[in-house]
Amino acid sequence: MNGNQTLTMIKPVAVARNFTGPIIQKITDSGFKICAMKMTQLTKDQAGEFYAVHQDKPFYEDLTTFMSSGPIVAIILEKENAVDDFRKLIGATDPADAEEGTIRKLFAESKSHNAVHGSDSDENAKIESDFFFSKLERH
Ligand code: UDP
Repeated sequence: MNGNQTLTMIKPVAVARNFTGPIIQKITDSGFKICAMKMTQLTKDQAGEFYAVHQDKPFYEDLTTFMSSGPIVAIILEKENAVDDFRKLIGATDPADAEEGTIRKLFAESKSHNAVHGSDSDENAKIESDFFFSKLERH
């Protein structure tokens, strides 16, 4: 059974370029409800923890440096089939491969600076939501 929540982050370059508003508009226009939201800046260690699954990848060092380089906006989103539908809405990891109209096609600069994160499974949606939010911060 598919769950109804997912976790997104608007990544540092997208926040710095003032894309937070347009990205959230696109997300809510697509039928997702916001259940929790915060702006925060990760330390390099926290970014490393969030992306621990990639720790052996060649891009890990650059990724954690980038993700701790400025504020991000973390959001828990709710919708039926949230994880899969949100992955469709954001498009492929590399914006060059992303479909027209997807968030990464519209707002990403490159494969590494690709505007937004989206959980890739229900299990990770829960882990990632718990990473950012306490019970009291969810609605
Ligand atoms: N990434 C990168 N280079 C790569 C692959 C990934 O810089 O060759 C970065 C990119 O920001 C991506 C993140 O690492 O969003 C996590 O990678 P993953 O393969 O999980 O992609 P995603 O699930 O975000 O599409």
